[in-house]
Formats: sequence, structure tokens, C-alpha cells
Amino acid sequence: MNSLDSDKLIDGKAAAAKVITEVAAEVTALKAEGFEPALAVVLVGNDPASHVYVRNKVLRAEQAGIHSLVFRMAADSPVEAVLEVIAGLNADPKVHGILVQLPLPAHIDEQLVLQAIDPAKDVDGFHSDNVGGLSQGRPVLTPCTPAGCMRLLRDRLGELSGKHAVVVGRSNIVGKPMAALLLAADCTVTVLHSRSREPQALSRQADILIAAVGRPALIDASWIKPGAMVIDVGINRIEEHGRTRLVGDVDFASVLPLASAITPVPGGVGPMTIAMLMQNTVTAACQQRNQAASEPAKESACLSTC
Ligand code: NAD
Repeated sequence: MNSLDSDKLIDGKAAAAKVITEVAAEVTALKAEGFEPALAVVLVGNDPASHVYVRNKVLRAEQAGIHSLVFRMAADSPVEAVLEVIAGLNADPKVHGILVQLPLPAHIDEQLVLQAIDPAKDVDGFHSDNVGGLSQGRPVLTPCTPAGCMRLLRDRLGELSGKHAVVVGRSNIVGKPMAALLLAADCTVTVLHSRSREPQALSRQADILIAAVGRPALIDASWIKPGAMVIDVGINRIEEHGRTRLVGDVDFASVLPLASAITPVPGGVGPMTIAMLMQNTVTAACQQRNQAASEPAKESACLSTC
């Protein structure tokens, strides 16, 4: 890679470390006032990838000074048992953020569980109150991956107003909230999906391209307008020469020469997702604290949203 191309690389690890440092400063200020933000993670079953994700979340929480609690439950736990744990966490004033690690075992209704979380503690932003608030442009707890993408975009481009953003993928977790956030930032937004016709031609109009599909190297040079900023959310495991490798949805080698900036996989969006979870936890903690104390926001140690 020449130096021109390496300037195009967006370092998600460095950006995430910056967010964690900011969050840690907020947590320090809160602790000085005798208030400790806490995040509870509910992990049901033995999915190895989920265990790794939860370990990483706990590690980042520690780095940010956030107290974390993990509730590990057997894979055959009945949904009632999961709902009981969530009800206990909803009622606990010392817990400010609740995250249920997905996917849940097949016998558990994911929506039922996500809807059981108090929206004020819903740090993944998946409860319908938060989803609705986002689409109405109200300040809410925002899904972490799209929030992380927005931060990367703003860090690199500054003002996003008027830019044409194309989001490839329309999932509830990434594509739809991503489109809502871009719209709230006054972008012109096009959402492409598996039934879209001539996706390359539409995608070539994008100043900003977000790929959230789950198909290795789907997005090649034929999708890219020269100078576009490309955010690759995809995480795909591929077997190559007997080894497993992580790749995104973007064919990095063919897109890099055209893009003005691009996130690598790994090391792009992934680290930002966890960093934004920590940000959401502190935001939720501040809001709950202010509500409990009915203090004016300006007297709070919270620097971000409250
Ligand atoms: P999903 O399977 O729920 O949704 C995929 C979307 O892609 C669908 O809306 C579908 O319509 C669309 N699609 C499928 N084929 C298409 C095609 N040929 N052209 C255009 N659109 C097409 O997936 P998801 O949960 O949104 O995740 C997408 C990817 O992002 C996955 O690789 C996932 O692992 C990754 N992901 C990464 C992070 C992170 O932190 N970096 C977080 C969440 C998801």
C-alpha cells in the first residue's frame, strides 16, 4: 500500500480508544460525585463467538471505569427465567445499562426479551421506544454499530448535510438505524437491499457508502463513485489455505484506489461498536441519575448528552 492509500485508511481502533478515553473521563467525574455507572450483560447459552464478544465488552467496561456484571444462563433456560433476570435488572437502581447478547437460543423469542428491557436502560437501542424515537428524530439510546459509523463519518468528513449516503442492507440492527441517523444528519439517503434493481448504478451516486450485508467482497469497484467514503460494517469468516480469515462486505483491494477513505476489516467498525456501547451506558446512567435527582442538567458531571 502506498502512502496515499494508507492516508485513506480509517483506524477504528484508534477512534474507539479515543471514545473510551472520553467515556472514562465522564465516569471519573461521576465517581467523584459518588455515582458509579454499571452495565449488566445477559448471556444465554454457549455460543463461542458470543462468549468472546461478552469478554471484550467486559474488558472495555473495565478500561472505561464502568462497573460490569455478567449473568450467564444455561442454553436451555426457559424464556420466563430470562425475563425474570431482566425484571430484576430493570428494578435495580444500581444498574444503568442492560444488554442481552444476541443471538439467543432458538427457543427464546428475541423480540419478547428485547421488549422486556426498560427503554431507559436499553443500551443496545433495540427496544421499540428507542427505535421509534430514532425514526422521529428524538434523542434516544442509539444502536451501537450505526452510532459508531456516524462517529467515524463525522471525524473524517465533518458536516454531513446534503451528502448522498447509500446504505446497503436494511436490517433492524444496522441498515435501518443507520439510514435514520444519516437522515437525521440531513443526508440524502438511499437504502439498497436484496431486491434492489441495478444496485451498482444507485450506489455509484454515493458520497458515503455503508455496506452492511454479510457477503464477502460483494461491493467491488463497480459500486463506487470516485472520492466516496466507504464504511464496511460486514464481518464474514472465510476459509483460505486452511485458515479462517475475517473479511468485510467490501472488496478492499479494488475499492481502495477509488475511495477517499475506507474502513478495514478487522480494525474498522468493530472496535467502534463496543466503544459506543460504553458511551450509551454513561448516557443512560446520566439520564437516570438526573431523573432521580431532578437536577438541572448543567450541574451534572455528564459531559455528553445530559
Ligand atoms: P442481516 O442478515 O440481518 O441483513 C443483511 C441485509 O443485507 C438484508 O437487509 C438484505 O436485504 C441485504 N442484502 C442481502 N443480499 C444483498 C445484496 N446482494 N445486495 C444488497 N443487499 C443485500 O445482517 P446484519 O445483522 O445487518 O449484518 C450485516 C453484516 O454486518 C454482517 O456481516 C454482520 O456480521 C455485520 N455486523 C457487524 C457489526 C460490527 O460491529 N462491525 C455489527 C453488526 C453486524
